[in-house]
This record gives sequence, structure tokens and C-alpha cells, in this order.
Amino acid sequence: MQLTNRSKVVVNKEMSLMERLYLPAIAGGMMITLKHFFRKSVTINYPEETRPMAPVYRGWHVLKRDEQGRENCTACGLCAVACPAEAITMTASERKKGEENLYREEKYASVYEINMLRCIYCGLCEEACPKEAIFLTDRLVPSGVDRASFIYGKDKLVEGVEADQRIDIGKRTKAHRKI
Ligand code: SF4
Ligand code: SF4
Repeated sequence: MQLTNRSKVVVNKEMSLMERLYLPAIAGGMMITLKHFFRKSVTINYPEETRPMAPVYRGWHVLKRDEQGRENCTACGLCAVACPAEAITMTASERKKGEENLYREEKYASVYEINMLRCIYCGLCEEACPKEAIFLTDRLVPSGVDRASFIYGKDKLVEGVEADQRIDIGKRTKAHRKI
């Protein structure tokens, strides 16, 4: 019984003189190579060149600061609870007198870590956060060979205080709202 009508009968026929010369087949192959040579390349020279990222791409997280440079995160733990990969851990601490310029709320995360190898970039931490403190960005997490280097602490997650160190999440939030 035949499952399709695409089967071919193999015939062990003698090759003709042209086939035995191989030259027409080589010329045919060269023509195909030449045709592709002048076509627009479909590959890019990554990492020197990168493709545009979708506005909803979810990559390397950022912990945001407010306009006054204070950390938004209040260590409520909702992101960690929402995380299906159990990738987020944190230690909550109480803000001391004189630290009002560093942390927006009385409680803050003295330690905040995301295991980037566990993270599945689902964005649920961002959804769960009531303080607009954590966002996923279009930044790619660099590759590495050392597992420990994928535990991202506050040094890699919290954005800088200066204007040129802020991570723009405007496009992402706008795209997010459209969904
Ligand atoms: S993006 Fe998803 S998996 Fe990654 S830390 Fe946030 S909630 Fe967890
Ligand atoms: S990032 Fe948001 S949800 Fe997570 S602990 Fe901080 S304030 Fe809470």
C-alpha cells in the first residue's frame, strides 16, 4: 500500500556521456552559487550588527529608581512569589535615618538577586510589582561559562543614578499597555 504518490522507481540505468563528463553538473552548481553571490545576504555579522528588537522583547531586568534617584523596590517579595522559576531571592532591610535619599520606602531590598539561568523571561515579576520597580528590558544577557556569574545582584540590576545611566523602559511600557 502506498501512503503518498511521491514515490519514485529507482532505475539503475547507464550514465550518458554528458553525465559521465560531470562538467554540465559542475557548471549548473556554479551557476546556483553565482546567483546567491549577488543576492542580499540573510545573515548578519553578530555581535557587531544586531537585528532590531521587538518592543515587547523580555531580557535583562532593571530595578528602577524614582526621579530623585531613590530605589523603588520595597522588598515586598511579590515578584519572588509570582516567579514560576523561583529565580528571585531577596533580603529585606529597614531604611535607617539619613538613607531617605537612597530608598523610597521604609523597607528596601539590601540583597536582590535573580538567577538568570533559571529565569524564563516570562515577565510575571514585572506584572506582580506594585511599585513599578522591576521591568524587563531589551538588553541581552551576555553568555558565559561560569554558573555563578549568572546570579545577578543589585550591582547588575539597579539602574544608575545619573541621567545617562538610567535605563529607558518607556517604549516597553507603552508596548506593554497595548497588549
Ligand atoms: S521574568 Fe519570569 S522567570 Fe524571570 S525572574 Fe521574572 S517572573 Fe521569574
Ligand atoms: S521588585 Fe517590586 S514586587 Fe519585587 S520586591 Fe521589589 S517592590 Fe516588591
